[in-house]
Amino acid sequence: MSDVIAAIATGRQPSAVGILRLSGADCAALAGKVFTPKNGKPLAEAPERKLVLGTLFDVKGREIDHCLAVRSTGPCSYTGEDTVELQCHGSPAVLTAGLEALCRAGARLAGPGEFTQRAFLNGRMDLTGAEAVIDLIEAQTADMAANAAAQVGGALHRRLSPIFEELTDICSHYHAVLDYPDEDIPDFRLSDYEQQLRTDRDQLLWLRDTADRGRILKQGVKITLVGKPNAGKSSLLNALVGYDRVIVTEIPGTTRDTVEEVARFGRVLARITDTAGIRNTEERVEALGVERSRAAAEQADLAVFVCDSAQPLDEEDRQAMAAAREAKRAIAVMNKTDLPQRVFRVQLPFEPIFSVSAVRGDGLEKLCGWIETAFGADLPCDGSILTNTRQAEAVGRAAEAIDRALEAMEAGITPDAVLTELEAALEALGELTGRTVREDITQRIFQRFCVGK
Ligand code: GDP
Repeated sequence: MSDVIAAIATGRQPSAVGILRLSGADCAALAGKVFTPKNGKPLAEAPERKLVLGTLFDVKGREIDHCLAVRSTGPCSYTGEDTVELQCHGSPAVLTAGLEALCRAGARLAGPGEFTQRAFLNGRMDLTGAEAVIDLIEAQTADMAANAAAQVGGALHRRLSPIFEELTDICSHYHAVLDYPDEDIPDFRLSDYEQQLRTDRDQLLWLRDTADRGRILKQGVKITLVGKPNAGKSSLLNALVGYDRVIVTEIPGTTRDTVEEVARFGRVLARITDTAGIRNTEERVEALGVERSRAAAEQADLAVFVCDSAQPLDEEDRQAMAAAREAKRAIAVMNKTDLPQRVFRVQLPFEPIFSVSAVRGDGLEKLCGWIETAFGADLPCDGSILTNTRQAEAVGRAAEAIDRALEAMEAGITPDAVLTELEAALEALGELTGRTVREDITQRIFQRFCVGK
């Protein structure tokens, strides 16, 4: 039987409502020592999932709140155990005093993510669902929340479970034939499973490849502004983000380091990096910044080449263009269109090209609309995309193991060697869903959670 854990489930800021949460065997009886229902009946006998009005007491027995309590009994609760929630007024002082009283009554403070960890250990959700809980709490956009909510509801589990079952069937069929030769078990022929294995591998590869979109959904599109000093990158960043984050000056080379800002383009979250202007420089500090610009462009989902279209293109612009083209995708922005134009679109090897005036805000709407469409269109939010590298790595490993099994089959290698690969695939999928994951890894996953979840 597990001990009773308690935590403040809501934030530490004053709010209308604050929740104290408990989980563990008979926690309603424990909570009943500090919460007295108004109807005079013990909380442990209150109907399940029904709010009960009552009084909360602190360690000195003083009334500190008039609040509501609700209890559920395991296994049909979030954690799979008996749980109680006390819905108090959201004063941090009330919640802290209530928590102290609960601990005095026998509860212990919950660790980060311990409620969800118990849900996982009690089989209420697999590890993909548990990891999605943290994604849901940390979601910065509604799309991210929708994807995470679907995964909390088991979207990944439903996708992976049939593959896990199929591989288990193949392995158990093989071992059954080997271990019970006298039984009337159908012959084991690997070729019977070939097509199915191909389908499983392809599905896993598809899933693994969603991780890139998952990263964009979770962390935002990485956009890097590249251009020579004074092209107007800082001004463009400020205009896109909506406030003056970067110092704008007329002296070339002011932005020495890379600066990152978060912006939203409709439903798309973006992290925009303003880089030091690309230029060959002898000056050491700026030279470091230039190096970082090139690196930032290489890692970007989108590089935006920014030029001062009131000045003819020069060697520095060409270097910046080359750096921008290192990114997976690159577009151009002709800035300063409020001034007489000296740059022509045909000179810019990019598609599309936007004309803007960062200081006046002209043309920004088109640019923002394009970013939203380019990166928001293929972001399904139905829980079908992977949003963490641990998952993507495990799915990739499972797919590769199946691939090696198929190659071994084609090469006519004995079934036991093929089966070793399939067992490796099962191991990888087990890590993903938590069936075979090492305890230290699950510990680390739950450490990322906040206390009270
Ligand atoms: P960076 O070095 O590329 O980051 O360039 P800044 O954003 O610091 O801008 C350099 C200079 O160009 C500043 O004086 C800005 O005010 C000016 N500037 C930036 N955008 C525009 C624009 O659209 N029109 C005009 N006329 N000036 C601009």
